[in-house]
This record gives sequence, structure tokens and C-alpha cells, in this order.
Amino acid sequence: MTQAACAKKTDILIEGATIISPSSSGADERITVVDKGTIAIDGGKIVYAGRSPAPPEFHNALKRIDASGLIALPGFVNAHTHAAMTLLRGYADDMVLMEWLQEKIWPIEAHLDSEDVYYGAMLACIEMIRAGVTTFADQYFFMDDTARAVRDTGIRASLSRGLIATSPNSSRALRENIELCEAWDGEASGRITTMFGPHAPYTCPVDFLEKVMEAAEEHGVGMHIHLSETRGEVEESRARHGGMSPIELMDSIGLFEFRILAAHCVHVSPKDIEILSAKGVGVAHNPGSNMKIASGIAPVPAMLKAGVRVGLGTDGASSNNNLDLLEEARLAAFLHKLANDDPTVIPAGQALAMATLGGAKAMGMDFEIGSLEPGKKADIILLDMNKPHMYPKHDLTSHIIYSARASDVTTVIINGESVMEDGVLTGIDEQEVLRKAEEKAKALVAKA
Ligand SMILES: [Zn+2]
Repeated sequence: MTQAACAKKTDILIEGATIISPSSSGADERITVVDKGTIAIDGGKIVYAGRSPAPPEFHNALKRIDASGLIALPGFVNAHTHAAMTLLRGYADDMVLMEWLQEKIWPIEAHLDSEDVYYGAMLACIEMIRAGVTTFADQYFFMDDTARAVRDTGIRASLSRGLIATSPNSSRALRENIELCEAWDGEASGRITTMFGPHAPYTCPVDFLEKVMEAAEEHGVGMHIHLSETRGEVEESRARHGGMSPIELMDSIGLFEFRILAAHCVHVSPKDIEILSAKGVGVAHNPGSNMKIASGIAPVPAMLKAGVRVGLGTDGASSNNNLDLLEEARLAAFLHKLANDDPTVIPAGQALAMATLGGAKAMGMDFEIGSLEPGKKADIILLDMNKPHMYPKHDLTSHIIYSARASDVTTVIINGESVMEDGVLTGIDEQEVLRKAEEKAKALVAKA
């Protein structure tokens, strides 16, 4: 080897891990498992992931991680949340959706300020990193502050300003969403991307959505919207819009010509599913939230069969009540087995694919995240296999979905940067964030 070749070093070499990942080339998102594998990271991207030893050009690394006894996975993708709602975790539970919103959530949200959202989002980012979530899709307000939290914690996110046309400040909100796109898209070394966030068809009439589409077109970004979460919402749409479901209505106005991330899609007809598939709409399935608020059961197996891009989301922490995506993957597998009276539905590999590559596809980001393959961003998590609930090692993919815990995540790398090492967050004063979040949440409740 020449002197020059010796001098070239890759950034990080992860050695000895059991690499488990879906593959973006396989149509069925087959999970591949490589025992005692090696992953090489350079310039924020994966340059090698496979059997050991890696080719000689990757041997020389600035940093080596001995990952023997650990599982390497692509980071989990939380395709739908409202990060700062962590401040409202446990504030109002066990209520009917509209009473919960109108009597508890909306009145207290009216008192939220910029610092509240920053610390709520910091708390959310820390919780997600600890649970192996490396990317999330968010829709809320004071999004500059959520963007600051994303920048400060090292996580990756697609951010949108929640837009409710029926609220008196809807024009200002749309302007803020435009400013969010202009100020933050591509920031934090490309970890931040943006979308527009029209809340839902029942809060955003068609004339307002047309303005949003115009802005999205101008800024070349997609939209994050809630669709068909409750039965009542679908019935109201059919009554008001000549029999059209919210999805048929959105299709008729051309919304699906944009890159769309649609949260929930619980009450969808076969015709709706056909539209979602044909238009490449991404769906964020939130089993925990849907069960807790008793919204219903989304026909996920039928959507997957029809080729819809389905990922998983936690929804906000006040309707879940945590941001643990691994738990959502398990809930998705259990819920649909039960709902279909069929234990073969959503097997472990498919649940793992939804939690990673599926979420990336739903967000339109599968070209850069969601699997451990050369050329993708280095968003990698390591899980400790040396736990009682991980023995015996018959099937590690099964263990991840049916037995592992978020606390098994030891190391998190995002964009090629180590944000958690051996359970310790790097560059964040975690205790200070917990203290501030508690203080802000208590002060907020006192104002309500
Ligand atoms: Zn939501």
C-alpha cells in the first residue's frame, strides 16, 4: 500500500456487530442478517456494511468501535409526532378525543411560549435518541425552537408548522411555515428538512389548502397532514363534500401531486387505499395513539398489500405517552394479528422494516436513510444483546420486535456523528434539560 493510501482514514469503523437491516433493493423489504459484520463510516455516510473483514481501504479508521455482542440496526424513524407535547405527558389522559382537545389540550397550548417548546422538544429529542430514534417528522408551532433542539441534540428531523385555517392567526402561521422552510431547510449539516403542515382537511378548507400547495410548490417541499383519524371526520367529509372521503377530497384538489406524509389513515376505504398507493402517499401508522384515544384500527395489512408506503409514528407524548418507536413496532405487530384473527400478519421482519425503511419511505427519505447500505447516511444504532430477555439467540429479528427494550440501545450515530456512546449522551447536559422541562411544564399547568 502506498504512503498516500495509508494516510487515508475512514471516520469510524464498527467491528464485530450482528448487522440487521432491511434492504432498499428488495421489493419485499427482506431483512438481512450479517453475523460479526463491519460497518465503515466516512463523511457522514456508510461506505461499507457487510461481512468482516471490510476491504483493506477501510481498515485505517480515526475511531474504532468494538461492537462484539451488539446488534447494529438502522436508526428508527418516528414518522409522526408533536415533539414539544412531552410537556403535556400525563397531564390529561383517559378522555374522549374532542373533550380531551377542547377542554384540556387546546386551552393549555394557548399558553405555550418559545422556551416551553424548546425544552419540550429537547426532552423529546433526548427521549428519542435514548430509544434509538434517529429521525422524526414533527408538526407543531414555535418550530424555530424545535429546529434549535434538533440542531443542539444531533438528531435528524423533518419539521412542519401546524396550520389550522379556522384559527384567527392562520395567515401568520402560513407565513411562519414559509419562514421555517427558508431559514432551516438543509441546516444542521443537512439534518433538518422542512415540510408544510396543514393540520387536517376538517381544519383546513380547500381554499386554504390551495394557498398551502402554492407555497409548497414554490419551496419545493412536501406536506405533513392528519388524514382520516376518526370515523366522525370521514362521515362529516362525505356529508359536506358530495360523498367524498377526506382522501378522495384531497386527491380531487391535487394535494397528492405533492410529496405527502399522512398521519393515521385509520378509517380508509378500499378506494382510499387504491388512491394512497397510486399516488405514493406516505402513511404514518400510530398504533399506540390510535388505541389510547380509541380512534380505531387502521387497515395496515391491506395498505401494505396494496403497496402503500407505511411507516410508524408515536404521535405526541400526550396521546401515547412515550416516544418509543420500538414499542410502536411491537404494538403494530400485535394489534394487526389480533384485529385480523391471524398471527401470521405483520411478522417480526415486516414490523422492523416499517420501523426503519418504511418510515423513511413514508417521509420520502428512503434514498438516504432507513437501511444500512453503502451510500446512505450513517444513522446507526447499537443494541446490547447481553441481556436476559435476549437469550437464547434463536432469532435476533424476532428478539428485536418481540423482546428487546428501548433501554437496550447503547450507542447512537446520526449523520456519522456519535450522539450517544455506551448510554451517555455526548454534548448534552441531560439532567439540566430534565430539570428545565419539569419547571416549564409545571409553570404551564399553573397558567391553565
Ligand atoms: Zn398528530
